[in-house]
Amino acid sequence: MIFNEYEQRIKGKFCRTCIHRERWECGGSIIQYCGKRKNNRTHNGLLKIKVTRPACGYYEEEEL
Ligand code: SF4
Repeated sequence: MIFNEYEQRIKGKFCRTCIHRERWECGGSIIQYCGKRKNNRTHNGLLKIKVTRPACGYYEEEEL
């Protein structure tokens, strides 16, 4: 199987390590959103994510 550059870059990566991941405190619990991708069904207009979600094309790895 041939992977192009894009696929290679996000292969094995998850939202957990992406710089666009945002943690919002909501009623005592933490909800994760993507600061890059929009969703008009959420109260803040951002896409709700899980840290285990496989990375998308906007993925940028956070520097630790
Ligand atoms: S959905 Fe994409 S841009 Fe948003 S946090 Fe996950 S990998 Fe990053």
